[in-house]
Amino acid sequence: MRIASTPGTSAPPTCTAVAAPASVPVPAASITSHNGIFTVKSASSGEHRTFRVKTQKPDATFAPGERIVSLLSGPNNGADYRSFGILKADGRIIVWKKHRGTQIEKLARMLERLDAHAAAGQVTVQAETRCRCCNRRLTTPTSISRGTGDICHERHTAGL
Ligand SMILES: [Zn+2]
Repeated sequence: MRIASTPGTSAPPTCTAVAAPASVPVPAASITSHNGIFTVKSASSGEHRTFRVKTQKPDATFAPGERIVSLLSGPNNGADYRSFGILKADGRIIVWKKHRGTQIEKLARMLERLDAHAAAGQVTVQAETRCRCCNRRLTTPTSISRGTGDICHERHTAGL
């Protein structure tokens, strides 16, 4: 059966079940169970990376219905994402061939155990939020914690 859809939207695809984590407490938003933009910060190095998880449309030519994982690789945190793999329902990430053996694959292996790493305090995971001044997407740990982006924060600090 074809479900009628209005322009700009499409019928929701049938979602695959997500395997429940065995012993790890489920965070408010998890890359395993949620699509969205997640910023992961390493407790030891202080470095952070921003990832996006997005489900392909059911009629997509490439990987229809699959959840694609991308890495933020440019200054525009709404658009500069480079895909590198497919997140499967059991939490495994199938990394594109060209990234195998690279730093990207290491990130993918880390993401596969993200909830456990977060529970162990090795990383903090923050889901995307929006600036309370201008509504822009916040993806750095500092901006997400503060609730404002750098530009709006400076404006506030300057008393404007
Ligand atoms: Zn702002």
